[in-house]
Amino acid sequence: MSKGTPSFGKMARSYTHIRCPRCGRHSYNVAKKYCAACGWGRSSRLRRYSWMNKKVNRVRIR
Ligand SMILES: [Zn+2]
Repeated sequence: MSKGTPSFGKMARSYTHIRCPRCGRHSYNVAKKYCAACGWGRSSRLRRYSWMNKKVNRVRIR
């Protein structure tokens, strides 16, 4: 299978992620029942990591 236009036909077959109720992103996994972006369904806390923001002059912003 090639990477271009012919493989996009597979994308219409089924969905793995739906809109997340907590963060609103299209990252809630239907089969695993948790959100890949905020961890909803997996933990009560928000999924957050230090590498999610960018380093500027060796200092993390926020
Ligand atoms: Zn989420």
